[in-house]
Amino acid sequence: MTDESGSSSTIFVGDFSDDHLTNKNWPEIEFRSPEDEAWYGVSVWEMCDSLVVSFNGFPGEYDEVYPPDDFKNSDEIKEFEERFRATSVQMQDHECSTVSEGTKVCATCPSVTGEVKFYDAIVVKVEREKHGRDEEGNELCGCNFRLYWNQGPFVNQVTSAKVGDICLKQEDNRMNPKVVSFLKEARRKLHGGAHQGDETEWQKILKKVTSAMRNHNLISSDTENHG
Ligand SMILES: [Zn+2]
Repeated sequence: MTDESGSSSTIFVGDFSDDHLTNKNWPEIEFRSPEDEAWYGVSVWEMCDSLVVSFNGFPGEYDEVYPPDDFKNSDEIKEFEERFRATSVQMQDHECSTVSEGTKVCATCPSVTGEVKFYDAIVVKVEREKHGRDEEGNELCGCNFRLYWNQGPFVNQVTSAKVGDICLKQEDNRMNPKVVSFLKEARRKLHGGAHQGDETEWQKILKKVTSAMRNHNLISSDTENHG
């Protein structure tokens, strides 16, 4: 999760990352932590075959390491895949009109501990108020958004939120290439062995080479026998 100011930076350690996969056009990603099921802005990198998830704004000891052979079945891999998506972005006051009943959002919920955590919710009602302006002429939204929570401490309950509590989901659903290659490796490990398709071509060549060598040897030995 990022706000206006908190653009996340990706830190590369050593040569772990493949630079050709680091493309600025790929969306920033957020990750739903198995720890508390809340969404966090993250960066990902590879360490050996494992995927390391680094939480933006948290020290390295909070990094989570996922080995590719840690999944029991393809459902678990799918479930893990669904923990990643393009980072939701802080809703702006002037975007109020784009939010209505049924809009899926990611929002902070009232917390007893004072922690700011983000969970998925759906807008069930917007109690609109006439927008005002600040001294600089910027639009100010004072509307009240009623949210039904899909996750988090208020799951299946409705609470109220203001524009500042809400992040809008991104339509960009391209998956980060590092996550994609990790999932591919995890699926490969699960199903065991290398891709058959990759070997077939090489096996064909090997067969040709073997048979060519055999023929050559036969001819040579025949010639020798006759000599
Ligand atoms: Zn509004």
